[in-house]
Amino acid sequence: MNVLITGGAGYIGSHAAQRLLRDGHTVAVVDNLSRGHRAAVAALQDGANGGRLAYAEADIADRAAVEGLITAHGITVVMHFAAFASVGESAQDPLLYYRNNVSGMIALLEACAATGIERFVFSSSCSTYGQPPEHLIPTPEDCPQAPISPYGMTKLHGEHLLGHYAERCRAAGRPFAFAALRYFNVAGADRGGRLGEDHDPETHLIPVVLQAALGRRERVAILGTDYPTPDGTCVRDYIHVEDLVDAHVAVMQALRPSDARAYNLGIGKGYSVREIIDAARAVTARPFEVVEAARRPGDPPRLYADPARIEREIGWRASVTDLHTIIASAYAWFRDHPTGYGA
Ligand code: UDP
Repeated sequence: MNVLITGGAGYIGSHAAQRLLRDGHTVAVVDNLSRGHRAAVAALQDGANGGRLAYAEADIADRAAVEGLITAHGITVVMHFAAFASVGESAQDPLLYYRNNVSGMIALLEACAATGIERFVFSSSCSTYGQPPEHLIPTPEDCPQAPISPYGMTKLHGEHLLGHYAERCRAAGRPFAFAALRYFNVAGADRGGRLGEDHDPETHLIPVVLQAALGRRERVAILGTDYPTPDGTCVRDYIHVEDLVDAHVAVMQALRPSDARAYNLGIGKGYSVREIIDAARAVTARPFEVVEAARRPGDPPRLYADPARIEREIGWRASVTDLHTIIASAYAWFRDHPTGYGA
């Protein structure tokens, strides 16, 4: 297939692009490099293995650039990763998040409408659930969506945009299908060592902990120790990035005209912040300082997936569920790339 990957120079988008190229698909990447890395695109080029890669440095709101890529490369599928994705930052600067994640996506869908895109796979988020009620943990897809952060709300808007657009396509007899993939916490890196996670500033737990273990940050702050969880720290579901992109490929291939699907992507098990720190100590065998700090606004205490629907409907399930394996994968990247992708 010929696939447009928005945000293909970023963490998850680059892993998806690499996988599609290796499977022999044609991939066009659009990325404005506000959070992505030119070096990730270069790594994709080097590892393309015969798959065809095109790249445009442009914003998803730049309709001429996006429509140009789509028509030049015969694109029929869009995987939309380009978005800002930090809960804390979204609380600090909500308008930035709405502009990029919502307004940007409207422009992208306009480009899809103008060019007749037939399948759309959307990076949504478990943060669209907010804090699920106790009886819906692990959380299935029919849990009410009630975000408690601006980030989560922008992703829910994205799902609604797709739902309404798909309804119009159906009514007009145009073939369009979409899936909203609600990621839990994505971690780890390409086993081949070409691609990994490089955010600035880094706020996600596993990278922060590994940077501390590698002496690149002074300490790790546990953001809240008084949550109603077994050890007082937040519980999350950590899925390996390669498993996550594997699900994208499976869903892309399963979509049929007029489908409107939603799937949780997680391992179905939750780990606390303290468990992550303990596992990182074991994997890295390096000491680092940990301090207890105040809660971060917008953090739900417990979130982990019930991933049964995607297994039932598509036959996909996560292959890595062991925390040490996920952390070891991320550690290999951070250890071997002390400055990430470099300057
Ligand atoms: N967290 C933490 N210290 C940090 C970063 C994160 O204690 O330096 C906690 C955070 O409060 C949350 C969990 O780790 O409970 C996962 O946070 P992350 O930002 O990795 O992902 P999120 O769940 O917000 O998408």
